[in-house]
Amino acid sequence: MNALMSIPGAVDPVPVPRAVAVRADGRIDLIGLTRDQLREALADAGMEPKQAKLRAKQLWHWMYNRGVTDFTLMTDIAKAMHPWLAERFVVGRPDVVTAQVSTDGTRKWLLRAHDGEEYEMVFIPDADRGTLCVSSQVGCTLNCRFCHTGTMRLVRNLGPAEIVGQVMLARDALGEWPSQPEGRMLTNIVMMGMGEPLYNFENVRDALKLVMDGDGLGLSRRRITLSTSGVVPMMARAGEEIGVNLAVSLHAVTKEIRDEIVPLNRKYGIEELLAACAAYPGANNARRITFEYVMLKDKNDSDEDAHELVRLIRKYRLPAKVNLIPFNPWPGVAYECSDPERIRRFSDIVFKAGISAPVRTPRGRDIMAACGQLKSASEKKSRAELDRLAEEKQAALG
Ligand code: SAH
Ligand code: SF4
Repeated sequence: MNALMSIPGAVDPVPVPRAVAVRADGRIDLIGLTRDQLREALADAGMEPKQAKLRAKQLWHWMYNRGVTDFTLMTDIAKAMHPWLAERFVVGRPDVVTAQVSTDGTRKWLLRAHDGEEYEMVFIPDADRGTLCVSSQVGCTLNCRFCHTGTMRLVRNLGPAEIVGQVMLARDALGEWPSQPEGRMLTNIVMMGMGEPLYNFENVRDALKLVMDGDGLGLSRRRITLSTSGVVPMMARAGEEIGVNLAVSLHAVTKEIRDEIVPLNRKYGIEELLAACAAYPGANNARRITFEYVMLKDKNDSDEDAHELVRLIRKYRLPAKVNLIPFNPWPGVAYECSDPERIRRFSDIVFKAGISAPVRTPRGRDIMAACGQLKSASEKKSRAELDRLAEEKQAALG
């Protein structure tokens, strides 16, 4: 019955404009630009090319290694140049609307972009690591039935500055400037916040390149994980052009159930998805693909499901580990979390087959910061409204 039920909202992404880095005050945000774009921005503003090359290098270091946002603190850049820079450029950060701390130490920030759209990021401290959960979109075009973000309509993609800006803000909050290889609190990044990262591929790629830049934020690609609900056509490119660890939101092993809970499955089915995983560049036993599996009571949590999961992983010879996620509830959801004994039993079956299947400890539930609980008040604008806003902007620019 459920497989035939219509799912509200689009299964496919709606085209959304790429975020502009020019702010309302006409200044350009230097965060989020590639090295070449940074140099070009300076040259376009009238700086002589050789000078632009040098200044771009210095700015890069101050912004991404030292975390400095104020031009007057950039001591190796001539004082006389500070006002010139400040008139034309900013080193931006998303605005923080609220910051919350869970009883377990998890922190959640509600952020606001320059156009007022809101999105969330979460920091999860552990004994041996600290993980920042980064959003890629405001909302999500997909409507996984167990996910709070999925009840939002997509407002828009986040731009590279807004994505890398989350990492910069976390570093600010943790007092972790300058970038240093040892002793950091923020050690790992997961693209598991709001949105489907592979539906915002270019911006996510460009932002992660900045995060991985050795002269800047300097996080290793081995410490970054991108989670997708299964956008098959983009997976190979993600492996080739970003090269981070891959996590796949599998959540079910039969067509009937996955069609229901992850509607994208109607477009890219389980077998197709697993074949794309098998072909993922760089996956091997040292760098396994993580399969995320949310435990929903009486839905996907039987012994048969666990055996079928093992069979599928073996069939495609996947270097895999399974992450069992106890379902995190939110207001109005139709599902319940499986009982702890059921989860343990499911985990045992997979473990006994030689596949690691730890149960993830829910973090930050009390502040709605756990997996699948993120949501902001931003509302999707209609196509007509987006067109009208674009026209207004065009008119304002003359
Ligand atoms: N859009 C991407 C990444 C964001 S979600 C994706 O779907 O993979 C991060 C993980 O949390 C995904 O595996 C997602 O399926 C899972 N998730 C969503 N809602 C959840 C909930 N209510 N409880 C537990 N996990 C959930
Ligand atoms: Fe979007 Fe991921 Fe939530 Fe599905 S689980 S609705 S893809 S954010």
